[in-house]
Amino acid sequence: MPVPESPVDQTATSRVFYREPRQNLPVIVRGDGYALSDSNGHRVMDLASGISSTASIGQGRSTVAAAMASQAMQLAFIHNSWVTNPRQEELAARYAALAPAHVNHVMFTSGGSEANELSLRITRQYHLARDHPNKWKIISLSPSYHGATIGALAMTGRWDVRGDYAPYTFGAARVVPPVRFRGPFRDLEPKEAAARAAGMLEDVIEAEGPDSVAAFVVEPISPSWGMEVVDASYWTQVRDICDRYDVLLIADEVVSGAGRCGYFLAMEHFGVSADLSNLGKGLTGGYAPLAATLINDRVAFTIQSAGRGVSAVHTYSGNPIGCAVGLEVLDIIEKEDLLRRSRERGEFAMKTLAETIGSHPNVGAIRGLGLLIGIEYVASKETREPLDERFDISRRLWDAMWAKGFLLRTLHHGSALVGDATNFVPALTIEEEDLHAAALALRDSLDEVFGS
Ligand code: PLP
Repeated sequence: MPVPESPVDQTATSRVFYREPRQNLPVIVRGDGYALSDSNGHRVMDLASGISSTASIGQGRSTVAAAMASQAMQLAFIHNSWVTNPRQEELAARYAALAPAHVNHVMFTSGGSEANELSLRITRQYHLARDHPNKWKIISLSPSYHGATIGALAMTGRWDVRGDYAPYTFGAARVVPPVRFRGPFRDLEPKEAAARAAGMLEDVIEAEGPDSVAAFVVEPISPSWGMEVVDASYWTQVRDICDRYDVLLIADEVVSGAGRCGYFLAMEHFGVSADLSNLGKGLTGGYAPLAATLINDRVAFTIQSAGRGVSAVHTYSGNPIGCAVGLEVLDIIEKEDLLRRSRERGEFAMKTLAETIGSHPNVGAIRGLGLLIGIEYVASKETREPLDERFDISRRLWDAMWAKGFLLRTLHHGSALVGDATNFVPALTIEEEDLHAAALALRDSLDEVFGS
């Protein structure tokens, strides 16, 4: 086979195969709080927490480094299948104490995709334990993102991410969330949108066959829909429908959990408790790979009393170092009152953004919960028509903000519900003056990008 010509500079020194054919990525050499410095000495304020809420407590924390080092010296590794370790036990107990009533069991993995995959295996075991082998189908929201492994991709309601891998993924049915900026529920009253979207879920369960539907997987609030916060009545109706049809409710809280929205679980805001909740990213503030699946008593006891378990575990599940970091990060979240801070700073950020960029002709919406904030751009405020993809606002805004000393991530979604949106998700420790400076830089960058 002939070797095609490379689109990237092969004389460059990097041998990393990047996710996109680009080799001039900035090399970040230092993280200090929420400031990052690159190898040229350029310093930026990280408004993405690395990615979608991960580096949530700031970098360079000596107590986290000490906890890692001390755990590595004491016990670096055991495998969960035949022994356990104190850090895993302590951390599971801490998460269970923070979770809603009747959620008392925790399984650890290394990342959000693994946690979502694990919840598929738990769901399967739950239905097998009840002698329902035909209950296997998954319903998910569209759009949504649940991770990069094959099962998580199958659940992901974004064709742009999943499409190429479709031959490897099972077909999941999809329903739309009751967002009201675009789509079938545009401008409906929040409760009306919620009722219609919940009705759609029930219709899909009926159409698929209630005896075949195993679980409904959701993000309580999602970057894939630009962080619109839907009416709480949607989630209470969803909970009720899942109970009536014996369908497990899986909450993917990989982005929204661990304090990002001002609660340990964002679902608390809506007063709903899922059967399985998956947490990742912010759990360790980016210091170590760790994710957790919280399991309620009903699911755990059903599996256990049938003498079943969850086969296929991961090498690093419950890793002592990962769990030691998780414990230290949780201490920091509690000592520094970061849940309250996320709520308060989130409100401040929303207000400041509304004042600085709200009237910009291309800013369609600013919305969010806690410090999980989305800013959606439009070609016209009146029609809400999305921007032309060729305008490439993601790259332009990135470049303009980077030059001013900020890392800000904007995504082109191009879905029926969201066009282009910025994920404004700074560290939970961010100060008000920095939020203000970021909003001003964004205003100037928008003026540059769109021409003021
Ligand atoms: N779920 C959601 C909502 C996510 O945003 C992500 C990652 O961005 C994942 C799951 C996958 O997590 P990970 O990249 O840690 O595997």
